[in-house]
Amino acid sequence: MRDTFRREIDYLRISLTDRCNYRCVYCMPPEGVAKRSHSDMLTLEETEEIARSAVSLGVRKLRVTGGEPLVRRGAADLCRRLGEIPGVEDLSLTTNGALLAPLAAELKAAGVHRVNVSLDTLNPEKFRAITRGGTLADCLAGIQAALDCGMAPVKLNVVLIGGFNDDEIPALAALSSRWGVEVRFIELMPIGHTVPFGPEAYLPVDAVLKRLEGWTAEGTEGVARMFRLPDGGRIGLISPLSCRFCAQCNRLRLTADGFLKPCLHSREEISVRGLHGEALQAAILAAAAAKPADHGPLSGQCRSCSQRDMHRIGG
Ligand code: SAM
Ligand code: SF4
Repeated sequence: MRDTFRREIDYLRISLTDRCNYRCVYCMPPEGVAKRSHSDMLTLEETEEIARSAVSLGVRKLRVTGGEPLVRRGAADLCRRLGEIPGVEDLSLTTNGALLAPLAAELKAAGVHRVNVSLDTLNPEKFRAITRGGTLADCLAGIQAALDCGMAPVKLNVVLIGGFNDDEIPALAALSSRWGVEVRFIELMPIGHTVPFGPEAYLPVDAVLKRLEGWTAEGTEGVARMFRLPDGGRIGLISPLSCRFCAQCNRLRLTADGFLKPCLHSREEISVRGLHGEALQAAILAAAAAKPADHGPLSGQCRSCSQRDMHRIGG
């Protein structure tokens, strides 16, 4: 499946829920999610049907995300069903890690070979503050469990926030060689209705390179620029603001309430609820065709056009 700019669309990110056990300040309002009835959300069977249809059109990579995907009952079972779809070459998960420790082995057995865990700080107080109540130890236990059951690669997603965790760049980067993980620094995106950050928070991700010594560039992997550190560690820099990667964009996003988003930062959404067969395929093709060339400028002053907070999109 190609879009109008000849980009191959082979990646679907599937949000299982807009709910979360955390309330990260850059993602969710403090009061959490307005209650929505079950009938507003896709069932796991509907989600699987949409994924199957996307795979029939050329999608090869699936990522399960949220909200927090592991708060959705049946998440591991859905992963197993997604991994069994003929044509799926890569099944991955993005999680905050809080519930990962007891579920990692089941997820691995279900076909989730690799996982991204969000970790913005190694300081328990700062962790509690940024997640509004999360416990660092739970996240670390989740990372350890993913490593113990052989998921590979395990990637850590660090949202870089000037004045909050830029002082921890060397310590966070050092986790790569220490734990055998990849550490990915991501620019803070001005999206949704969450707390306003001052301009200093929107630090270009190249600030990471200024705080580290002796790195060598290793090219790009998907949307990340990769670097090798002298201790053998590997970090990735993802820069949606300072250096847009739209030309390489290969993805569609399925929201938990049944809309396809052609672009993370656009208002456009295409409903796929209740569609089957050729009508479903046509809607997926329409979503690919609606992908814009790029998402336009984003900065501390220029917010995303998306009307949804990140927890309602899927990151
Ligand atoms: N709950 C899971 C988690 O936190 O990993 C999955 C969903 S979360 C929306 C997916 C990713 O989006 C996380 O790595 C999170 O840090 C990132 N994210 C959320 N809001 C963001 C923002 N405003 N700017 C940059 N990244 C953001
Ligand atoms: Fe939840 Fe993930 Fe959003 Fe944090 S970033 S509030 S963990 S969905």
